[in-house]
Amino acid sequence: GRFSVIHMEELLERLLEECRSYTRLGKLADYIPELSKADINDFGVYLVNSDGKEFYAGDFDKKFTIQSIIKPLLLLMALMDNTTEYVRQYIGVEATGKPFNAIDYSEQLILKEHINPMVNIGAIEMCSMIHGETYEERFDRLLAFTRKLAGNPEIDVDEAVYLSEKRTGNKNRALAYLLKSSGIIDDDVEEILDIYFRACSIRVTCKDLANIGFVLANHGRGKKTGEVLFSGRHARFVNAILTTCGMYDGSGDFAIKVGLPAKSGVGGGIMAVSPTRMGIGIYSPGLDKKGNSLAGIQMLEQLSETLYLSMF
Ligand code: GLN
Repeated sequence: GRFSVIHMEELLERLLEECRSYTRLGKLADYIPELSKADINDFGVYLVNSDGKEFYAGDFDKKFTIQSIIKPLLLLMALMDNTTEYVRQYIGVEATGKPFNAIDYSEQLILKEHINPMVNIGAIEMCSMIHGETYEERFDRLLAFTRKLAGNPEIDVDEAVYLSEKRTGNKNRALAYLLKSSGIIDDDVEEILDIYFRACSIRVTCKDLANIGFVLANHGRGKKTGEVLFSGRHARFVNAILTTCGMYDGSGDFAIKVGLPAKSGVGGGIMAVSPTRMGIGIYSPGLDKKGNSLAGIQMLEQLSETLYLSMF
């Protein structure tokens, strides 16, 4: 292609250096004590190409919590365990234009069609749609699915972050009780929250995110085996909602700047999908005001421009 192996590695190194000054302009998440312990200087990128080649630079191997990037996986499991038609009866897919943890749902807005699975309230609802004999089994299935998509059986949970989320996540608790009181979820609220808090605390690297992004780019098929991990229809559903809602209330701006389906998390990760071409994982824990990795977006903007990745 246009960029040989050596050029691609040089390109990633160069872009990291060019964007490095942005890392310190962001702010570490501090809504839970554990996340404020991250190193704001960490900056990494990983690319998994459709021709099987992988490229990386910087702190691509550093572990961080997946946070909201688990949301597309929760949605995929909800779709697979039920059906698209069933899931669509309980959620909407229109952008909310509100922060990820917004709680200002009036009686009217708690209508099912206004609950978006890429923000907290919808993700908590997805936790109640995952099947399992026990609550524990539901989470175990989610973890196994995450490991499988990433091709990494060692992915685990950051117990300190999990406990920190559980201890302090009262706004999420309020959102879950709102769902319960509206009759949208039927399950035990604390158990569903426990799945959500654990899900956010799954620990990944840029490489893991790039591998997961690759499966979404590859119509649901795994990298090496070509195994069907989820259907092409589900891949299209998730990529579409990532394009319009993956960066919270910064999704429109991101679509203009980068033009790819992507999901951010307050841990500082971004997973981006270049349909049919590549999966991308980025890490830089300094966040902008909307909770997106600030240098990460900068890096993706440059990458998109250089490699002509924008879908638009
Ligand atoms: N654990 C975070 C929360 O629920 C996840 C949200 C995020 O990454 N924006 O607040």
